[in-house]
Amino acid sequence: MPELPEVETIRRHLEAAVRGKRIAAARTLRGDLRRPFPPALAERLAGRRVESLERRAKYLILRLDGGLALLVHLGMSGRILLGEAGGNPGPHVHFILDLDDGRRVSLQDPRRFGMVDLVAANLLDAHPLLKSIGPEPLGARFTGNVLADRLKDSATSIKAALLDQRRVAGLGNIYACEALFRARISPKRRAGSVTGPRAAALARAIQAVLKDAIAAGGSTLRDHRLPSGELGYFQHHFRVYDREGQPCPGCDCATGIRRIVQGGRSTFYCAKRQR
Ligand SMILES: [Zn+2]
Repeated sequence: MPELPEVETIRRHLEAAVRGKRIAAARTLRGDLRRPFPPALAERLAGRRVESLERRAKYLILRLDGGLALLVHLGMSGRILLGEAGGNPGPHVHFILDLDDGRRVSLQDPRRFGMVDLVAANLLDAHPLLKSIGPEPLGARFTGNVLADRLKDSATSIKAALLDQRRVAGLGNIYACEALFRARISPKRRAGSVTGPRAAALARAIQAVLKDAIAAGGSTLRDHRLPSGELGYFQHHFRVYDREGQPCPGCDCATGIRRIVQGGRSTFYCAKRQR
């Protein structure tokens, strides 16, 4: 599943291709993904100029002239392909934007858990999918105090709380595990007890793991893009995620990385280093 760093990597590379371009033609190739495409989507997009490409949590927001915004979520398996207009859309491509410079942006989504919506830009903050999302972890105002305030009334584990989008925006299972490891916080600790210096360390760790992943995406993307046209997916080496039983990279603990299940999701951690 694309996580925040993948979506941000896609945003950075795609924005260079779409900003300032006009949508020559748009096309939907089926009626729905997770939800129906908005009515008359292709007609409403045709001729619009792209002003910017932004991100909120794991949503891409294409701001268009005329005060419109195209909201895109990649779901479980969504990919953005950047290629040339014309020709066969390819398998599992459900939505196409042909730009006035001859390039084509395609949304490919085999499992169809993604979604596309077209809304008035000034109503974005009130959009049902966006209005309850917590602070952006890569935002300048994301600090230990902001994080602690979001966690204070939570009796769940800190791991579960980090996956709750109302507390922190866009943090998925991989990066929650990695951030807790770096901050030396046990995934089983009660979320409301993460305060003060511990919350500050966690806020810094969250930003560090996301920034490292984005940097890795940026560096591998160039090799990746030409053969497949696919943006933002990369192999990234994690310190704890999916490393059950392997030596701990943070200390000399004999047991190595452990796996437990919390809320139906695997958590990877070091029981000695993380408290
Ligand atoms: Zn360890």
